[in-house]
Amino acid sequence: MDLLEYQGKQLFARHGLEVSPGKAVHTADEAVHVANEIGYPVVVKAQVLIGGRGKAGGVKLAGDEAEVREHATNILGMDIRGHTVRTLWIEHASEIESEYYASVLLDRSAKQPLLIFSIEGGIDIEQVAERSPEKLVRHHIDALAGLSREEALEAGRAAGVDADVLDGVAGALLALYEVWASEEATLAEINPLIVTPQREVRALDAKVSLDGNALFRHPENQAFSDEDEGDPLERRAREEGLQYVKLDGNIGILGNGAGLVMSTLDVVAQAGGAPANFLDAGGGSDAAKIEQAVQLILANDAVRAVLFNIFGGITRCDEVARGLIAAFSHITTSVPFVVRLDGTNDAEGRRLLQEAALPNVSAAATMNEAAERVVALASGQTAGAPA
Ligand code: GDP
Ligand code: MN
Repeated sequence: MDLLEYQGKQLFARHGLEVSPGKAVHTADEAVHVANEIGYPVVVKAQVLIGGRGKAGGVKLAGDEAEVREHATNILGMDIRGHTVRTLWIEHASEIESEYYASVLLDRSAKQPLLIFSIEGGIDIEQVAERSPEKLVRHHIDALAGLSREEALEAGRAAGVDADVLDGVAGALLALYEVWASEEATLAEINPLIVTPQREVRALDAKVSLDGNALFRHPENQAFSDEDEGDPLERRAREEGLQYVKLDGNIGILGNGAGLVMSTLDVVAQAGGAPANFLDAGGGSDAAKIEQAVQLILANDAVRAVLFNIFGGITRCDEVARGLIAAFSHITTSVPFVVRLDGTNDAEGRRLLQEAALPNVSAAATMNEAAERVVALASGQTAGAPA
């Protein structure tokens, strides 16, 4: 789960990493109010889950009320590479003498946390890695022992940090590792970590990804996902406990099991169709669950036809068919459904569907047959084969 900058900064502050005082707002009026409280100059910052906001015009310094209003008005509603700005972070502006880079992430191949530090910050770290890889200090951390002050100091020294801020930098690195480890993050990144003319060290930006599967151990972090800027349908799915990812096409995909759904995407693409989503309805044949999943798919206006792909293993196809029939007694839609039932009790399942004669629902015995039919239906080439 990716966090917005201001959410990441809350976690930084929780672990004693220095950040500027600020507040999140949603309107230009609020922005002005908060800026007056904080004191000028302030920075007006777009809160979106994508980097490079500065270059895109989403980060602006403001010296007075009029400038805050102007920037806040311009940035709210702005589209930054597909992300609409709905939230602004207003913080007291810092004077910058140096911009460093620091991150902690999980190095899966080494099976260890990795600390990356450079005094060439403020710019894309990929550029630093390409142009001057010697400027990147990489240090693997023993996850059981944690990061020691000596290691943090050594990383700073190796990167060429000025001696007078070495302590401050080491402190920031230790705090960053604490954020990563104790909040169960997969990434904790600061770019830039700045040094002010007063030689203070402070995080000016925050990029934190939390492990969604560990979130149950961190109830205080669960509110972050309610505020996140993701797709509204994906948010609704999360709230309903369904695995749903929105895609760009017009064919709704529903299956029992993540692996099956993934192959369904492939087969539909192979048949020339474009999937509108990934939706794993999980095992089971509960009518309420099926109805919930179908409603979620239909909530996407782009969907022209739906492929419901069931492979009966422990879940029996006749049970799924009954669930589907019960669910469809509450659902009215003109969107055609192709249901592929294969596996345990599949013939019985297809017979039940045929008997129920649901309008717009047809059954298929194989995945290829189902994919071809649903692609034809989505493109309006056929009125649908009989169930
Ligand atoms: P990003 O572009 O999405 O990475 O957003 P950042 O939060 O990193 O801000 C981009 C750039 O804006 C930084 O690298 C700084 O150069 C500049 N910036 C951000 N905050 C301040 C500030 O408080 N004072 C000054 N002078 N510049 C800032
Ligand atoms: Mn940044």
